[in-house]
Amino acid sequence: MSVPTIEISSPLRIRLDGDALVGNWRWLDARSGSAACGAALKANGYGLGAREVATRLADAGCRDFFVATWAEAQALLPVIDGAALSVLHGVRADDMAFAVGSRARPVLNTSEQVRRWREASGGPCDVMVDTGMNRLGVSATDVADGLLDGLEIETLMTHLASADEDLPVNGLQRDALTDLRGKTSARRLSVANSAGICLGDSYALDLTRPGIALYGGVPRMEAAGDIRQVVAIETQILQRRRVAAGDMVGYNGTFRATRAMELAILNLGYADGYLRCFSGTGYALAGGHELPVIGRVSMDLTAICIDTCSDLHEGDWVEIGYDLPDAAMRSGLSQYELLTGLGQRYARVWS
Ligand SMILES: *Cc1c(COP(=O)(O)O)cnc(C)c1O
Repeated sequence: MSVPTIEISSPLRIRLDGDALVGNWRWLDARSGSAACGAALKANGYGLGAREVATRLADAGCRDFFVATWAEAQALLPVIDGAALSVLHGVRADDMAFAVGSRARPVLNTSEQVRRWREASGGPCDVMVDTGMNRLGVSATDVADGLLDGLEIETLMTHLASADEDLPVNGLQRDALTDLRGKTSARRLSVANSAGICLGDSYALDLTRPGIALYGGVPRMEAAGDIRQVVAIETQILQRRRVAAGDMVGYNGTFRATRAMELAILNLGYADGYLRCFSGTGYALAGGHELPVIGRVSMDLTAICIDTCSDLHEGDWVEIGYDLPDAAMRSGLSQYELLTGLGQRYARVWS
């Protein structure tokens, strides 16, 4: 006898603003001038949900998407019909069975990957050149020595190490890439991530690759006021309780009440990406009140002070203060960590 599946609702959710997402892409596209503006969708669209993000951006006109791995590519290919998809980590031997013949292109990063792709006659590819970050990429010297000869390259790219700072190294990295113009078969050059787009016209080249700013991150001050928040986090109150002066709250009693207080215990914890660095610094929002986090954040639970909200009850929803630049400042986490750490327990609700 089969048991009917009962839908169980989630006590925590991420509200996602599709208009803000598309608006952010359009702003980055406009700032990219005549360059095409792509979108980085790796890590499940920075935690928002890659398929939902991809569908919306493809509808808005985005034609170049980036993921890290082939598993991510496989999941996305069906929803970005007609758009290009590049796999930033290139191809391992284990990826070849899927990669050769796939519509997605590897971004080749090493001589070994170049050899592997060429031997398999893999077709069009992208190539990453390392220009000083010493993360991924072949060297400009190897390119000048003919490493890429015979490859059918769509985009030759490099990645900026410090685009969020005003440093001479940004221009030097860009110039190291543009020095290779005409020295390979590449149709396009690309250097700018979100922060790189903010550095100005001379960084757009032929294609830009924003990620964080699409999702509401403010990579540099130039984007403040134009980039809109995409994510709002909401969670249900599991219990309302009163503590007396002298009572402790949470693990290790790191908070001890100096007066009687009203608390709400929320369905949210570090397993949901709400890390312990929000202990004593984070807050929730309800009825226009900022409700501070009290004591230590637990795995699945967080306490807030609701003295100012007599009308909040068990089962009510509150919003978590998660404005990305502000939350980054409070927690010491990066805006990237704040998004990509959001876990699997949230319902992701798009509007
Ligand atoms: C993640 C990534 C991007 C996007 O960077 P943001 O800082 O999120 O805009 C662009 N290019 C490469 C190679 C990346 O790995």
